[in-house]
Amino acid sequence: MLKTTLILRYNCYLQPPVIRWPPTIICYICGREYGTKSISIHEPQCLKKWHQENEMLPKHLRRPEPKKPEVSYVQAKGFYDLDSLNKAAWISAQNQLVPCDICGRTFLPDRLIVHQKSCKPKPAK
Ligand SMILES: [Zn+2]
Ligand SMILES: [Zn+2]
Repeated sequence: MLKTTLILRYNCYLQPPVIRWPPTIICYICGREYGTKSISIHEPQCLKKWHQENEMLPKHLRRPEPKKPEVSYVQAKGFYDLDSLNKAAWISAQNQLVPCDICGRTFLPDRLIVHQKSCKPKPAK
C-alpha cells in the first residue's frame, strides 16, 4: 500500500509546472512506457482492453480492476515524484500478470491463454 502523503492526484501530473526530465510514464495497467501526451490517450484504451481480456479469463483467473497509483508532489524541489509514480505503476502492472495454474509462471492474460495450450501438467506419479 502507498502510505505516502498524497497531495497530488496522478491526473494532475499531465500539466506539470516544471519539466525536469524527458517525461515518460509507465502505464499502470500494461507496464509499457508512454510520453505524457500519449499516456492520456493510451490509458482509457488500455483499461478497455484490460476489461475485454478479463472477461475472457476463466472466473478464477479474473482480477480486480487495477487502481491508478497516486504520487506525492515534492514541493521543496518543485517537481513531481516521477520515480515513485513509475515504480507504483510498474508494481501495479506486475500485479496484472496472471499465474498459470499448471506451471505457476506469470503471464499477461492473452499470453496465458496461448501458453496454456502448450503447457502440460507434470505427469502424475
Ligand atoms: Zn497500458
Ligand atoms: Zn504453464
